[in-house]
Amino acid sequence: MVNEKPGAEDPCNLCGQPLPKAHELDWTTDQYSARCLTCGPYRMTFQASMSPLRGPEGNFWLRAAARQHWESTGTPLMIALEDMDRLADEHAGTSVAQNVNKLLNYFVRHSPRPGTEVPLTPAHDYTIVDATGPEELQFYTSHP
Ligand SMILES: [Zn+2]
Repeated sequence: MVNEKPGAEDPCNLCGQPLPKAHELDWTTDQYSARCLTCGPYRMTFQASMSPLRGPEGNFWLRAAARQHWESTGTPLMIALEDMDRLADEHAGTSVAQNVNKLLNYFVRHSPRPGTEVPLTPAHDYTIVDATGPEELQFYTSHP
């Protein structure tokens, strides 16, 4: 059975932004699933979805973890409570060089031919690299 919460003011469990479509809670599998413009589609166990480790005040880097998993695999990241710290840590200490690589990989994946413009909306797309916010993504895109 799937419960859908009504209302447009359903905030993303990771970044707190309103979801374009309400999240789903599947009581048979105990899974929260959402599709966020910033975090991409992701799933969480019910326990994880209720944890104080999640955003917006909780673990910031889970946004990047969820989004980059989606971008690189095409499948939603499944976030369990016991994985939250590790997932966030994997994105917390990224160097500038590593972020430049992540950005280049994103462009390569999204452009069928060299020279194709890949649209970016920093307000939502800053999670394609391990950036602290839209301004940091803009730094990378304006300093290639
Ligand atoms: Zn989000």
